[in-house]
Amino acid sequence: MAIATVNPTTGETLKTFEALGDAEIRDRIARAAAAFTSYRLTTFEQRAGWMRAAADLLDADSEQLAQLMTTEMGKTVKAARAEVAKCAAGCRFYADHAAEFLADEPADAGAVKAVEAYACYQPMGPVLAVMPWNFPMWQAMRFAAPALMAGNVGLLKHASNVPQTALYMEELFRRAGFPADVFQTLLASADKVELILTDPRVVAATLTGSTPAGRSVAAIGGKQLKKTVLELGGSDPSVVMPSADLAKSAAVAVTARVQNNGQSCIAAKRFLVHADVAAEWTRLFVEKMQALVVGDPTDAATDIGPLATASGVTDLEDLVDDAVQKGAKVLCGGSRPAGAGWFYPPTVLADVDESMEIWTEEAFGPVAVVRTFADLDEAVRLANDTQFGLGSNFWTDDPAEQQRFVRDAEAGMVFLNGMTTSYPELPFGGLKNSGYGRELAAQGIREFCNVKSVWRGEASKGAEE
Ligand code: NAP
Repeated sequence: MAIATVNPTTGETLKTFEALGDAEIRDRIARAAAAFTSYRLTTFEQRAGWMRAAADLLDADSEQLAQLMTTEMGKTVKAARAEVAKCAAGCRFYADHAAEFLADEPADAGAVKAVEAYACYQPMGPVLAVMPWNFPMWQAMRFAAPALMAGNVGLLKHASNVPQTALYMEELFRRAGFPADVFQTLLASADKVELILTDPRVVAATLTGSTPAGRSVAAIGGKQLKKTVLELGGSDPSVVMPSADLAKSAAVAVTARVQNNGQSCIAAKRFLVHADVAAEWTRLFVEKMQALVVGDPTDAATDIGPLATASGVTDLEDLVDDAVQKGAKVLCGGSRPAGAGWFYPPTVLADVDESMEIWTEEAFGPVAVVRTFADLDEAVRLANDTQFGLGSNFWTDDPAEQQRFVRDAEAGMVFLNGMTTSYPELPFGGLKNSGYGRELAAQGIREFCNVKSVWRGEASKGAEE
């Protein structure tokens, strides 16, 4: 894919970039490795000072950055502003908590016949981050903030359609005061990931993106015996039980589905509704989906902007067409509008079953499927009937039903009576084809640390005497 800014609202190519060649990539890796030799010795206090400066710069640059993200990938400018604010909060969170998350952990010295024993967390070196375009700042920041606070150095290979946002990241950390080359953006094509990860100076990788890209990076990492963390796709269920607040769950369901123009890994995508309340809930949901304003993402009144890429629209169209051909009913939307830009309307499909690709694949756009169930057993079965295991939502007032879902949901995250959201305070990640490892919270910053066990015995004086 060409490395370029192409405005999804118009389809116009605004700026193209030359991709780095092999020699330039090796030179950048050498610089990262050199930077690590001194950066690993900096203190949490120093790193926190720079990280807080980065947060202040994000606040100051918010409007310019929001406009840039909207131009590069089409998210509404109000969503883009919120994303910048979230990045600043993420920086401050790790500036405040990294030292505590990575503090030495004492072990029972007596049990291991030591005077002192503990585990400590140490940085590993240059870590590669392969990132997607859908939250172009937040996805990269939730790698960068913990990685840099832990004393690692970062190499960002961002998605090819958000090069200016990617370059901003490198500039941000430099302006904030981090030493040279501690965070570098590599404008490189996806086929250079192997070159980067097989370089012995690169110690590990994290990838957020599609399942095929995750498999590829995991295979390279496996061959090299390098740790990888993978945050991949999702087809999250949202289950509505009869005791749920129907109006609230239908309203939140709309946001959960169409956030980021429907292009979120943790968007609820499959809505499972108890048969007793299905008619009323679906009516409320469809009414709200139809009322959404689709259009220019820079307009404050717009709820849904364009999809980020032309292929995103055709992929979505193919899923909807396949479902309709196999008997799904279109309750609203279902066909793309004429005119410029990669728009797709909010769409709700009913009468969906397992034979349809939209049930088994991830729909990356504002298309929801609604399916009814008869009892909790069936709800859990349908919720887990997916190759993915990222987030899951469950709406009920019944504590026993809540506990059953917490126990049985095959997912990395369960949100009860709410939609899945990422918070710096909570570990984020999934299982099955949604990947492995965790980002955020204490778990996220520890992923790229060497957990070193330290055992100290009695100092022997006999030898000297
Ligand atoms: P994608 O094609 O996998 O791209 C993501 C990143 O991986 C880009 O930087 C891309 O580079 C690179 N890439 C693509 N193929 C690769 C390969 N074979 N080897 C190494 N790198 C490769 O993903 P997308 O379709 O653009 O993004 C949407 C996907 O990301 C969805 O599935 C979504 O659910 C997932 N996602 C997951 C999370 C999460 O936290 N779990 C968050 C956001 C998004 P190029 O751009 O140069 O091709």
